[in-house]
Amino acid sequence: MNIQQIRNATTVVEYAGKKFLIDPMLAEKGAYPPMPNPASQAPQGDQNFPLENLPTSINNIVNVDAVIVTHTHPDHWDKAAKEILPKEIKIFVQNEEDATKIRNAGFHNVEVILKGTAFESIQLIKTKGEHGRGEILKLAGEVCGVVFKHPTEKTVYIAGDTVWYEGVQEEIDTHKPDVIVVNAGDNQFIQGGSLVMGKEDVFEVYKAAPNAKIIAVHMEAVNHWTLSRKELKSFAKEKGISLNVLVPDDGESYTF
Ligand SMILES: [Zn+2]
Repeated sequence: MNIQQIRNATTVVEYAGKKFLIDPMLAEKGAYPPMPNPASQAPQGDQNFPLENLPTSINNIVNVDAVIVTHTHPDHWDKAAKEILPKEIKIFVQNEEDATKIRNAGFHNVEVILKGTAFESIQLIKTKGEHGRGEILKLAGEVCGVVFKHPTEKTVYIAGDTVWYEGVQEEIDTHKPDVIVVNAGDNQFIQGGSLVMGKEDVFEVYKAAPNAKIIAVHMEAVNHWTLSRKELKSFAKEKGISLNVLVPDDGESYTF
């Protein structure tokens, strides 16, 4: 398997001979106005997003067998993705609501991940997530992650836009992933706290799965990020878990 970080939560997962594009945000740098009300500690709070260009050509990125959209926030499924992706491409989503949204954008091969869902011989399992803690959860809405399983591959768990909570622990206990992709930019609005994982959340993931490789994505790409790659790397070093916590730059990839 190979996992390539593209930008934000956009990743390309090559698994058991198939290529999956996760959470496509495909616009050029600065295409969208800033997410409103970013936390005061967000260093690029006033800037348009995406904050960076794509690290490789669009053609490379969309040359995949299927797409997985964990939820439809604009940093996971954007206007450019709707325009660029071929309308017949297979798209997996978390629920009927998201399926309807994506079908309404002209896509006609959209499937909700249910018990027993597979793509060819690859098992796809929807996992739960909480896009924040407390009051903000209602506003943030439903999200999911996904586990990939195949007899010839290691198990991968893409956690999606979730903070650390007992649900993530349960998914780790159930699926025993070898590789875990976490969204770790600690994005925050002025109020409501972390919307995705911060460094302490990543540490909890490590403690729950000390033998797994953890790949931190969803960093430094949308204006409300508050945890930099540099800070996460030095935190991992300080905790002695640098070999387990990988913090890719955009375009970087890993083979397992
Ligand atoms: Zn996000």
